[in-house]
Parts: sequence; structure tokens; C-alpha cells
Amino acid sequence: MTAKIINGKEIAKNIRQSLKEKISLLKTPPALAVILAGSDPASEIYVKNKEKACHEVGITARTHKFPATVSEKELLDLINDLNRTPDINGILVQLPLPAHINSEKILQAVSPAKDVDGFHPLNTGLLQQKSPDTFIPCTPKGIIRLLHSLSLDLTGLNAVVIGRSQIVGLPVSNLLLQENCTVTVTHSKTQNLSALCRSADILIAALGKPEFITKEYIKPSAIIIDVGINRTPNSLKGDVRLKDALDTAAYVTPVPGGVGPMTIAMLLENTFEAFLKQNRP
Ligand code: NAD
Repeated sequence: MTAKIINGKEIAKNIRQSLKEKISLLKTPPALAVILAGSDPASEIYVKNKEKACHEVGITARTHKFPATVSEKELLDLINDLNRTPDINGILVQLPLPAHINSEKILQAVSPAKDVDGFHPLNTGLLQQKSPDTFIPCTPKGIIRLLHSLSLDLTGLNAVVIGRSQIVGLPVSNLLLQENCTVTVTHSKTQNLSALCRSADILIAALGKPEFITKEYIKPSAIIIDVGINRTPNSLKGDVRLKDALDTAAYVTPVPGGVGPMTIAMLLENTFEAFLKQNRP
């Protein structure tokens, strides 16, 4: 059996095109402020890609770049300024922050109304309550869109999530529950991981270990969503060995070209939504 590839790149392109059309009808463009501290090469690439994607759909993006020695106060002062600036609709703090900075404190300083990453505790709580007033974190939101693109009934399916991070594992587990899946959240202390994974109709791999998920973890006909982005000396690898997923599963997302482009598309969508919420008549 050969699994079908879920083409995140194409799905994300369609979302961006539709956003571009909607944004072209606005009198003023939505605006996103990005905060980048330090010189982590991966973070610099992510921020460049986000800026480029914003410009392509007509969102104004401005990056505030700081050296790794930046103080917490400098970051908090900027965030307070951006919170008060009416023509900034979204604020994104690129993670990871330098080790001496308390990331939680910084993320909590972002106004929940401009928190387009959905990391503020208020938005996390609203997500649990299924409130439409939250911002859904971009990667989990993108994953659910990929699943919806299959036009399958997800009700009652067994979903196994590998990883319990605040950014991916926990929110995607929550969203899968909202899709009426039966959800198992696994992590580094889980026992019998491969057996649990083999029971998964939907397997979300978000552990950050290159090609960790092999045939023994995959139920025949499963839907495999590979969230991992692992830079190896020669290439970018997902958490799933693609060949094994192609041989065993029904659907699989590739790396690159699966979840990654959806994360950026959802950031654009959340920024557009922030603009609309802030400009309600
Ligand atoms: P994280 O390091 O915060 O969390 C990893 C999780 O995996 C932890 O909960 C840990 O318990 C679990 N884990 C680690 N080893 C395990 C093992 N052997 N067995 C079972 N569970 C294990 O990482 P994160 O921020 O959630 O990111 C996970 C991966 O997804 C990374 O590769 C990251 O680069 C990638 N990522 C991709 C996107 C995207 O847009 N595609 C976005 C965010 C993160």
C-alpha cells in the first residue's frame, strides 16, 4: 500500500491566496510586530519566512531585533508599547528567548487581544472552553486544517499525540478532543509507546527526534501528521521515517511541505482575525 501525501504546501498556498484577496479589500492593512532576541540561525530563518509571507498577503510586518544580551525590561517595555499602539494588530515573540529571560513572563505581557500565537494563559484557557474569542496556536490549528482537508469523519477515531508541549502537543490534543476523537497524550516517560501508536487512527508526531517513528509505530491505514523539524547535517528530517509511513499508512504529511507551511498560513490568518476583532464596528 502507498499512503497519500497530504500536501500542506498547496493547502497553505490556497489559504494565503484567499487571505490576500480579503486583505486587499481593507482600507488599512493588518500589522504584525515580531520580536527576535539573539541570533539563533533557525529563529532568524523562521522570522524571515514569516515576514516574507506577511508581505505577500498584504500584512505589514515589522521585526524588532535585539542582541542576546537584551534585558527582560527592554523586552517588556517594547511589548507594553506595542500593546498600546492601535495600528499593531498582532505581536509575536519568536522562541526560544535567550536563557536569562523568563519566557513565561514575556509571553504573559503580550495583550491577549494581540496574542496571534495563542500562548497567553487567557487564550489557552479560552481554547479549553472552546471559546471563539481565543487565538488558536498556529501549528495545532494548521494540523486540524490538514485533517479537515481529507474530508473524513474524525468522530470516535483514536488519536495518539506524541509530545505534551504547550506549543504543539497539549493544544493539538485539546483540538482533537473537540473533533470528538479519543485522545491519548504520550511523552518521554510513556511506556509501550510503539503499542499505543499502533492503535492510532491518527498519529501526531511532535517529539523532535529525527525519523523516530518507524513501521512498528504505525497502524495500517492510519493518518500520520509529522510535526518534527530536525536539522541533520545533510537535510531537514521529520519525526517520522517517511518511507515507512508511505508503505504502511493511508495518509502522511511530508517534511518539508506538510505542517510547516500551515503554521505560517495560520499565523497570517490569526493576524487577520486580530485585525477584524480590533476593528469591529
Ligand atoms: P518540545 O521539545 O517542547 O516537546 C517535545 C515533547 O516530546 C515533550 O513533551 C517530550 O516529553 C516528548 N518526547 C521527547 N522524546 C520522546 C520520546 N522518546 N518518546 C515520547 N515522547 C518524547 O518540542 P515542541 O516545541 O513541541 O516541538 C516538537 C517538534 O516539532 C520539534 O521537532 C519542533 O521543531 C517541531 N515543530 C514544528 C513546527 C512546525 O511548524 N512544523 C512548529 C513547532 C514545533
